[in-house]
Amino acid sequence: FERKKILVLGAGYAGLTTVTGLQKKLGFQDADITLINKNEYHYESTWLHQVAAGTIHWEEATYPITKVVNTQKVRFVPAEVTAIHRDAQRVETNQGEFEYDILVVALGFESESFGIEGMDRYAHTITDPQTSLAARQEIERNFANYKTSGDQRDISILVGGAGFTGVEFLGELIESIPDLAKQYNIDYDDVKITCVEAAPSMLPMFSDELTQYAVDFLESKGVEFKIGTPIVAANEKGFVVKENDEETQLEAASVIWTAGVRGNSLMEESFEGVKRGRIITKPDLTIEGYDNIFVIGDVAAVMNGEGEDARPYPTTAQIAMQLGDHVAESIKNKLNGDKMRAFTFDDKGTVCSLGSEEGIGVVFGREVKGRRAAFLKRVIDTRAVFKVGGPFLAYSKGKFL
Ligand code: FAD
Repeated sequence: FERKKILVLGAGYAGLTTVTGLQKKLGFQDADITLINKNEYHYESTWLHQVAAGTIHWEEATYPITKVVNTQKVRFVPAEVTAIHRDAQRVETNQGEFEYDILVVALGFESESFGIEGMDRYAHTITDPQTSLAARQEIERNFANYKTSGDQRDISILVGGAGFTGVEFLGELIESIPDLAKQYNIDYDDVKITCVEAAPSMLPMFSDELTQYAVDFLESKGVEFKIGTPIVAANEKGFVVKENDEETQLEAASVIWTAGVRGNSLMEESFEGVKRGRIITKPDLTIEGYDNIFVIGDVAAVMNGEGEDARPYPTTAQIAMQLGDHVAESIKNKLNGDKMRAFTFDDKGTVCSLGSEEGIGVVFGREVKGRRAAFLKRVIDTRAVFKVGGPFLAYSKGKFL
């Protein structure tokens, strides 16, 4: 009797929920489980806008993976996956090769610039702890420069995109920038924070009333919105945008692009039929032709039904964790020779924070805003760490202390 080799790639929400589920459901003798992740730590991707704005330190958004993985049951390998050979059942990493019987691909998201000229080169992104910290440091460096340069651009911040991440980032900026300005003896009224969005409206997941609440709140704190304004290029001065059919240069030394995400580009290299780093999964979360490969989280397009009207669910942390739970259960069933069930999403709602004290959202079908929404956001963030790491992790990493 040989133990089946289970290999999980990525320790984000999807991968880590899978592994913590597996270690609860399976005994040591049931399977040989390996988890591979680029870093020794897990990061809370949904908190990265706070790292980028400087309202939390990046270490607050991370914890060592070995804190939640039972190393008696799971082998954790810090390594970067470089290739997946789906037919040979082999994965290459910068620390050697790994074979598998069952593979779970959970390699997460990357930033996507949609081919906008100069975006990759000139704009910062909120993709991982490193890029988020770099954005924060750039803003701080520019504010420090202002003392000697007196250049308005040094205290101007351009945010590309008024989607979920863009709006949450603005909510943090209006909390951290007044402090930063004070630190450098700069009048906050002189600081410019401008958000540029191509679409004619923002935050499509919320009602007009909730969206207006967010806009009014952020504007009252000094944010200027340019909605329906496509960015055509990024350059050393800032963004070039199209306003009334004319190209205009918006100038700022700190430029952050929040508007695009895609699945990991390793997906295109490893599988067929991948679009923007995402592959359509079957209802049981395996992929066409490979009933031993599960794909979950931001690299998966999980459909909300079958047939022509079926649409992929949005890629979120909430769904990534439910997918991880489901795959852990499915793998247990598979090893026992039982049938695997189809995945169904239980939508508990979404809250978009506007800093630590304000927010908007829909929770269990009901709209919330203001302090109540901010409170619920802390509940959601704390629940995410609790779910993976239990009460001790929730105590040290949760958002109530
Ligand atoms: P990820 O969290 O991206 O994890 C992927 C893991 O794989 C990472 O640990 C990464 O280091 C690792 N990895 C990547 N490449 C390799 C490689 N080659 N080799 C080894 N390891 C690798 N969703 C919500 O539901 N609610 C929210 O409020 C919310 N807010 C958000 C706010 C921000 C600022 C951002 C950026 C996203 C937000 N999201 C939110 C979306 C959510 O973060 C993602 O949907 C979620 O992180 C996807 O989880 P994942 O496990 O698929 O991927």
